[in-house]
Amino acid sequence: MKIGLPKEIKVKENRVALTPGGVGTLVRRGHSVVVEEGAGLGSGISDHEYVAAGAVMGTAADAWAAEMVMKVKEPIESEYGYLRDDLLLFTYLHLAADRPLTEALLAAGTTAVAYETVQLEDGSLPLLMPMSEVAGRLSVQAGAYHLQKPVGGRGVLLGGVPGVQAGHVVIIGGGVVGTNAAKMAMGLGAKVTVLDVSHRRLTYLDDVFFGKLTTMMSSEANIRALLPEADLLIGAVLIPGAKAPHLVTRDMLPLMQEGSVIVDVAVDQGGCVETIHATTHDDPTYVVDGVIHYGVANMPGAVPRTSTFALTNQTLPYALMLADHGTAALHRNRALMLGLNTHGGKLTYQGVADAFELPA
Ligand code: NAD
Repeated sequence: MKIGLPKEIKVKENRVALTPGGVGTLVRRGHSVVVEEGAGLGSGISDHEYVAAGAVMGTAADAWAAEMVMKVKEPIESEYGYLRDDLLLFTYLHLAADRPLTEALLAAGTTAVAYETVQLEDGSLPLLMPMSEVAGRLSVQAGAYHLQKPVGGRGVLLGGVPGVQAGHVVIIGGGVVGTNAAKMAMGLGAKVTVLDVSHRRLTYLDDVFFGKLTTMMSSEANIRALLPEADLLIGAVLIPGAKAPHLVTRDMLPLMQEGSVIVDVAVDQGGCVETIHATTHDDPTYVVDGVIHYGVANMPGAVPRTSTFALTNQTLPYALMLADHGTAALHRNRALMLGLNTHGGKLTYQGVADAFELPA
């Protein structure tokens, strides 16, 4: 199969859909890959590295002319013209939040498989997981930075020093983001408390960290009790398919100390802190009641090189199935079939159909 890799043109998007290693795997399997010139530069990957891996470099139109196009972000309006009925598109789509793109895909008859709805039997989302891992680890880095006095923070070093107590990191939600945040915070030497409603998750965290972090059932009373001593609060809650619940409400904010930091990673689902709103890497924070709020909705964008490699690790096995078998791969793999969002002018994913009150 011929596979195309266009350069991402959404503002500030520096990731690319495949690393040279990923391209090389497809090429060795007998497929051909066309990469748009400069597609990897934002992730520190040169055209030369792609050519060495067996790719052919070309224009955006060359890449989009392939049978399967792999991307990172959803096509933006200026790319809608490339959509066609014999195109297989494999990328993050988030269609429920994007009616114009949904209509463009349906009008063009494109077969679109969305990374974010590929789902394994245990309910996990393997192609979302790498970005949650990145965001979870980054949340502690961002929080530790904003706790510094020159940028308005409390002036607390998360790891403390001998003779001085460590900072306290409170993480609400112990899933992928929360676990990765806990790992980083513990690595820095901080005191860590994780809250979740799932006893199973709390047991898992207690097991893997040998009881070196504190686990607590997520309840309003426990959250209220922890806020006065939290230097860094990380929001990492997810209720699949729903908006995040507001677990830290406006009236609870004065319980926190001045200069403490909230990093609400769940901001992309509305956030679990009532006062959070989405911010950008250019202007990531704002202050409410003396508490620093960090609400960057695309945190992995700060580390595109790591994110590109992490994404390729997870998407490549599915890309190989699609390249080897075309759309027949969807019938061979249930997880991939759940990724199918549009085909032949029809919506094929219930969640998107529900969002637009359209038939699926
Ligand atoms: P996950 O499903 O792995 O974990 C979510 C956890 O939240 C689960 O363990 C669940 O039991 C727990 N939870 C549910 N309700 C709760 C409650 N009331 N109190 C405490 N815990 C509760 O999800 P994830 O992959 O860790 O993602 C977490 C959030 O981070 C999602 O909203 C995701 O979209 C977001 N995210 C944001 C970025 C970003 O750049 N901002 C990047 C990646 C992921």
